[in-house]
Amino acid sequence: MSIVVQKFGGSSVADAGCIARVASRVARMAEAGHQVVAVVSAMGDSTDDLIALARQINPALPQREMDMLLATGEQQSIALLAMALLHLGRRAVSLTGAQAGVCTDGLYSRAKITHIDCRRIIKELDTDNIVIVAGFQGIDEAGNINTLGRGGSDTSAVALAVALEAELCEIFTDVEGVYTADPRIVKKAWKIPEISYDEMLEMAAMGAQVLQPRSVEVAKQYNMPLHVRSSFKSSRGTIVKEVAKVPREMEKELLVCGIAHDLNILKTTIFDAEDNSRDLARIFLLLAAENINLDMISRSSNRNGKQDISFTTGRDDKQKVEKLLKNLMEEMGLGGFEIVDTLAKVSIVGAGMITNPGVAAGMFQILLEQGIDIDMITTSEIKISCVIDETRVNDAVLALHTGFNLDAEDK
Ligand code: ADP
Ligand code: ASP
Ligand code: MG
Repeated sequence: MSIVVQKFGGSSVADAGCIARVASRVARMAEAGHQVVAVVSAMGDSTDDLIALARQINPALPQREMDMLLATGEQQSIALLAMALLHLGRRAVSLTGAQAGVCTDGLYSRAKITHIDCRRIIKELDTDNIVIVAGFQGIDEAGNINTLGRGGSDTSAVALAVALEAELCEIFTDVEGVYTADPRIVKKAWKIPEISYDEMLEMAAMGAQVLQPRSVEVAKQYNMPLHVRSSFKSSRGTIVKEVAKVPREMEKELLVCGIAHDLNILKTTIFDAEDNSRDLARIFLLLAAENINLDMISRSSNRNGKQDISFTTGRDDKQKVEKLLKNLMEEMGLGGFEIVDTLAKVSIVGAGMITNPGVAAGMFQILLEQGIDIDMITTSEIKISCVIDETRVNDAVLALHTGFNLDAEDK
């Protein structure tokens, strides 16, 4: 019998009515003859609510206890979904990440899954249970609960699908699939029928919230196709897979397949560091030792014969970066530093860029016409990103969507 993994995000299980709807969907899949593993997120905004509560109690947000706390969000929804299935007369059992055998590397709040011991899940499936697994969490070798970073239930689902050799991995969410831009901002965005892992990875990494980047990495690594679709409608969504089929009439437009934006940008600039590679390396080694994930980096020699270094991270890292640089100021003789948390990043993504010159110029021109200043720029073979003021991000996304011919005709 084939195994199907279905993942339901927070908005899909936001209240009792939603949970009942998810239960019916899961039950239908089981009735169709599949063994079903449902992976669920915490209800609605409950992860944010738990973080806000913790902040009132201890603003330092101690890491181990934060993971312990946040994991309870998913634990609520698995129990409720299992109850809803029992109410429908189905056999069902809920499992936390640890009970499901999801083993993690011990890094609080951004753990990676090292492996999954599927024995318990298989045993439950073989006794005819629908298995409901808490997303976003696992257990490390020392027995501590770890969470996988925001949006981590996507990664739980894909990793489980791989480990269980599932036939299908469906990601149910509050939009109908992956769109050419966030459909909440761009009304003329259209649903992409198929997208390659590489393009999806860039879209996700550049801020398209719909899939956690790690989940796409795992899917790509093991060639697990994903179906991203609506939890509220039955329409076909977006298939994420190795080679995406491109509708013929779109071919000329496909320089850019999507626009992504990210408000979680923190830019730090260090002024007047010694102009040598040793100091540069030392700063970044120390940032790495704090597990601070870097995105963009730029350095330039300045008029004082020293170097200015800028880099971007997530906003959550503000305190860590500040503390580290304060400690380094004297030791390394830095001129000073500045941290800005009012910026955003807007990116254009598309495999067609590799072979077509002038795409970056097009992007800069479009932003210029909108009077939007560009702060930092970064490129890869299939994406170009610009850091801009956060207040202009919607204007930028809309203008780039139109400028790169992505607006749907019929909307
Ligand atoms: P879930 O709770 O189901 O995990 P998320 O809120 O994490 O859902 O992700 C879905 C959201 O991602 C959508 O509501 C949408 O606003 C946002 N999003 C951003 N970019 C895109 C895109 N290109 N395509 C689809 N959704 C996007
Ligand atoms: N509940 C977690 C979050 O809000 C994980 C997830 O939803 O995927 O980030
Ligand atoms: Mg999500």
